[in-house]
Amino acid sequence: MSEENQITRRKVIAGLGAGLTTGVASPVFAAAGTMQEDVTTQGLEDPTTKYPRPPFKGQSQPWPGLAGQMDPKPDHGEKSYKGSGRLKGRKALITGGDSGMGRAAAIAYAREGADVAINYLPAEEPDAREVIALIKAEGRKAIALPGDIREEAFCQKLVADAVSGLGGLDIVVSNAGRQQAHQSILDISTEQFDWTMKTNIYAPFWIIKAALPHLQPGSVIIGTTSEQATDPSADLYDYAQTKAATTNYVRSLAKQLGPKGIRVNGVAPGPIWTPLQVSGGATQEKLKSFGGQTPLGRPGQPVELASIYVQLAADDASFATGQVYGAAGGSGHP
Ligand code: NAD
Ligand code: MG
Repeated sequence: MSEENQITRRKVIAGLGAGLTTGVASPVFAAAGTMQEDVTTQGLEDPTTKYPRPPFKGQSQPWPGLAGQMDPKPDHGEKSYKGSGRLKGRKALITGGDSGMGRAAAIAYAREGADVAINYLPAEEPDAREVIALIKAEGRKAIALPGDIREEAFCQKLVADAVSGLGGLDIVVSNAGRQQAHQSILDISTEQFDWTMKTNIYAPFWIIKAALPHLQPGSVIIGTTSEQATDPSADLYDYAQTKAATTNYVRSLAKQLGPKGIRVNGVAPGPIWTPLQVSGGATQEKLKSFGGQTPLGRPGQPVELASIYVQLAADDASFATGQVYGAAGGSGHP
């Protein structure tokens, strides 16, 4: 770094130290190699203190839970996500689009210019209504498609309704998931095991199968997997293996569909503050210190993954397929 660059950099850092949090000019290298001041309005944000840290209040909701009743309320980007036309005119179906990562993706997609259909369970109507209103506020089509994806016939109807409502389909986000913590394998009934497998493994199979005939080259499939795929918790015996299956289908399908010009990728979150965790996904002890074991010392918020779902869907990620992008606060592996 030249002396001139060092001086400019020192000035910027000193400015930050003086409490400048907005309106900080970030230095960039110009083509000629000299430092120039870029006009940005964004200050630095410390990721360790950006969002709530444990301890959290104990809280429990009947499954599947509502984001609107969590304390603190999760951030899905309602106020913060800003789009820049990256998905203009695209047509997306997102399962579990009412809350959590699915909701963050739905808001971001609409703000990037996409029309969005969301699937959710009828019990989640209050959360879903808010998402539909947020998509409409961007002037995009918002299609609400409630129903239980444990049924193959519903999955087929879901895709058909999304295609007719959106006028086509080119982004499929298979994100809905079922997670219930059980201390011992002996506590998992065959019914529970089957429920987890139907939601997390069969439903993506049925939905992707139904969607494929509609997907043109340039379309994308994105699966929500987990750090559990590679680092399973003792009390998530059934759930964790479905996430290993998700990572696996992403890689298999990417190879199968690459020659057709359809990209398939995964997102692997670490501990994220969503209804899944407060409706049986985590024990009360785990919930109180939720995310505290990560190097950032807190759980992630759904909005912190929104840009990953956007990136994997966008045309400029055209060489990314069969990839799993992680966001786990420093622990966990995709
Ligand atoms: P969430 O509760 O907000 O979302 C899960 C959604 O799944 C629900 O909103 C619900 O609409 C849907 N769903 C579940 N069963 C369904 C069914 N039978 N029919 C239709 N929809 C059904 O929680 P989330 O954490 O955002 O979960 C989204 C995805 O992220 C899941 O696949 C989950 O496994 C994964 N994930 C979550 C975490 C985390 O810490 N929260 C970590 C890694 C991966
Ligand atoms: Mg929900």
